[in-house]
Formats: sequence, structure tokens, C-alpha cells
Amino acid sequence: MSVFKRFMSTNISPEVCGYIKKLSVVGAGQMGIGIGLVAARVAKLDVEFVEPNEQQIERGFGLIDKLLEKDISRGRCTEQEMQAIKSRISTVSSVEDIKATDFVIEAVTENVDLKKKIFSRLSAHLPKDTIIATNTSSISVTKIASAVQPTMDPSKVIGMHFMNPVPVMKLVEIIPGLQTSENTLAVTVALAQKMNKVTTVSKDAPGFVANRLLMPYINEAVIALDEGIASREDIDTTMKLGMNMPMGPLTLADFIGLDTCLAIMEVLHKELGDSKYRPAVLLRNYVEAGWLGKKSGRGFYDYNSQ
Ligand code: NAD
Repeated sequence: MSVFKRFMSTNISPEVCGYIKKLSVVGAGQMGIGIGLVAARVAKLDVEFVEPNEQQIERGFGLIDKLLEKDISRGRCTEQEMQAIKSRISTVSSVEDIKATDFVIEAVTENVDLKKKIFSRLSAHLPKDTIIATNTSSISVTKIASAVQPTMDPSKVIGMHFMNPVPVMKLVEIIPGLQTSENTLAVTVALAQKMNKVTTVSKDAPGFVANRLLMPYINEAVIALDEGIASREDIDTTMKLGMNMPMGPLTLADFIGLDTCLAIMEVLHKELGDSKYRPAVLLRNYVEAGWLGKKSGRGFYDYNSQ
């Protein structure tokens, strides 16, 4: 029986992740920062960001300050708690600088070669029993695990797919790869629960559940815009008010990042081989123009004036 099937009947004790005191988060982009903040704030872990880009670190820390200050003004956090959370957070600029750590979550750009390189370096640097999770949105966990050094145990690699924005969204989709052990799965689920998240488990299939369903919907909205079926505002309003979605698909795409949306569609298209997953030409053009959505200031909407 596969790990996946066995897991369905397993009850997880929070104790299995009790040894985790420090978490390293590789990549301090919009997802990495959210994951690190929730780990430091909710699970009270020491958090070390691994990020080579100074600007991203500055941006990330600015975001952490903004979120915590907002919570102070709403009475959800005290000044003292804010200082305690911030004192648990540190940064290093490369994987090789990670000091003794208990669990690693990789949240770098959605690119298979980059992720494989990071996993190869992590596995060369870390003790072989350290669990390394990937926050990939779509790439095969088994493929990423294939990059670990022979000295490392691939049963320690797992997918831990947080949703954006991490401090707000309740779900973490957990993806055991082909070689992931039951213990790795149990520890990862327990850690997500310690971060006050609800977990679901998905088979290691392209896009898992979340993006197998979400991305073709977003892609179709971009095709509808390109075909002139309706304006961007009307596409979004139709789905928001007509289908009770919290935001329209084009606004959501801007929020996720158009480069990330394109990368996920490319994985679905390549791995599933069905033309229905072909990325919208307009999506590709926007990414090539550097219009990546909210994070770059422009996507389907303009955020520079806000
Ligand atoms: P992002 O572009 O905001 O951040 C990516 C970060 O990775 C950047 O800070 C970049 O400097 C860093 N990075 C690149 N190379 C690195 C290296 N060698 N070492 C360390 N850091 C490096 O992207 P994001 O939206 O945070 O996405 C990150 C991951 O999370 C992707 O795999 C994505 O698919 C996944 N994800 C994204 C969303 C979303 O809505 N954006 C949701 C769930 C999962």
C-alpha cells in the first residue's frame, strides 16, 4: 500500500514535531516571508530566512513590520509580542550558511532546475535526517527529491504547499513524493497544525489538487480577455458577484504573480500533455514584458498609483 493510502487512516500526535525548534525558509519572497512569519508568530519557532537578494529581505522585513503593526493597532498583538516575534527571526544569504536547523521549507521561484539545485545543495550541507519540504505549486515532489545527494535520504523530502497570503489562508496541501516516508508525512502534518493550519493530502500529480483546478480557470480568464469577450473588470466582476468568488480571476492572478501562474501552466501542459492546459499567449506576453502582477507594480491592473 502506498504511503498516501496508509496515511488516510493515521492520527497524528502533535508530539511528533516537538523536536522542531528552528525552521529555515529558503527564499524570502511573498510566500517565504508569510511562512516564516506564521512559524515565528503562531508556532513560536526560531526562523532563519535564506535569501541572496538584499532587496527581497528589506521588502520582506518591511512587510512583516506592516502586518504586525496593523495587528497592534487592532489589538491582536502587543508591542512586546511584536518584539519577541522579530527577535526569533534571522537571515543568511546562502544555503551553505544555514546553521543547525530542525526543518527546512524551500520557497524559491517556481523553476524546476533552480529547485533541484537548491535541494542538491541543501542535502550536501544538512544532516541526512533533516526533513526538507518544498512549497512548490505544481512541480513533482519526486522529481525535486531526485536531486538530493546520495548521502541524503529521499524519504525526507515532501511537498508542503501553503496558500497565499500565508497568514490568512487556513490550508496547507501536503504532497508525499514516491519515496516520502510515513514519519516525514506525520511530522510535516503536525508542523502545519502547529502553525494553526488545516491540511489536506494530495498525490504527487502535476498541480496537485489546488492548482490542477485553479490554474486552468485563471488561464481561461486570460484567454477570454485576449479574445475581447469582456473587459478585465467585467470578467472579474462576473466571477466575483456571479459565482461568489472573493476576488475575480485576473485580480487573483496579479496577486499570485503572473510568472508563477505561467510556470504552473507550463508544468500542467508539459506533464499532462493535453492542449487544454496550453498557457494563454497574453499571459506569456505579460510575463515577458515584466508585468508580473502586484509584486512588480503592474499586471492586469496597475498598482503603481495605489
Ligand atoms: P517570489 O518571486 O515572491 O519569491 C521567490 C524568492 O526566491 C525571491 O525572494 C528570490 O530572490 C528567491 N530566490 C531565488 N533564487 C534563490 C536562491 N538560490 N536561494 C534563495 N532564494 C532564492 O515567489 P513566491 O510567490 O514567493 O513563490 C515561491 C514559491 O511558492 C514558488 O514555488 C511558488 O510556486 C510557490 N507558491 C506561490 C504561491 C503564490 O500565490 N504566489 C502560492 C503557493 C505556492
